[in-house]
Amino acid sequence: MSPRLHDLTGQRFGRLLVLRPHPERVRYGKDKRAVAVLWCCVCVCGEERLVFGSNLRQGFSRSCGCLIRDTTTERNTRHGHARRGNVTRAYTCWVSMLQRCRNPNTKGYCNYGERGITVCEYYCDFMNWYADMGDPPDGLSQDRINNDGNYEPGNLRWTTASLQARNQRPRKRKARRANVADIRAYAAALAPTATPRRIIKQSAERWKISTATPRSSSTALPRSAGFHFAGPSSSRRRTRSAPAPRTCAAPTDCMRVRC
Ligand SMILES: [Zn+2]
Repeated sequence: MSPRLHDLTGQRFGRLLVLRPHPERVRYGKDKRAVAVLWCCVCVCGEERLVFGSNLRQGFSRSCGCLIRDTTTERNTRHGHARRGNVTRAYTCWVSMLQRCRNPNTKGYCNYGERGITVCEYYCDFMNWYADMGDPPDGLSQDRINNDGNYEPGNLRWTTASLQARNQRPRKRKARRANVADIRAYAAALAPTATPRRIIKQSAERWKISTATPRSSSTALPRSAGFHFAGPSSSRRRTRSAPAPRTCAAPTDCMRVRC
């Protein structure tokens, strides 16, 4: 090593650590009399580079190139949960929440946005939501404690699918179709003043069955229960009644047709 050479071995410049001087010299200038020394450096990321000593001393070279990449990424990143190809589960939950409440084209919109369920303004910022909810535990999903409440602080939790299934709106019960016993009991209660037409009308209103019509006249009551309702069930009952005797058109038909 030339005595005029300022030894940089072992010194650190930014992310670069100088290992040794490189034997190659680079001449520059008008008559190529100036000589630049190259130094072998290793970056904190493990890459090795040849760097001019002047660039190290003046601060122009501080890494192998990874520093500018990391700085740019950090500058353009808000929270880091939505990196391309590496979207976190928390971010997916948050986006799904917004979609359910705001996007009519989403599958479950009818049970959320159309019902009036909204996301409060505070939770429209992912970082606010993430600060309260954190990462979703394995096997759990987001649930509203009050099923009719909005997505807002104090109304959210992580729960299992089975618990979510129990935390639902009460289902609408279908009106039960009146059976014979119901109609008999109701008719018995109205017996002193009831007429067949009145009983049928009030039964239809009470059990929400289709409007009933007597088969023949207002005085004609059904075979078993005292009523006859038009519809598939009544026609099915008719088919069960005893068939009318059939007459043979010709004596030979008796061989093929049961009569
Ligand atoms: Zn590097």
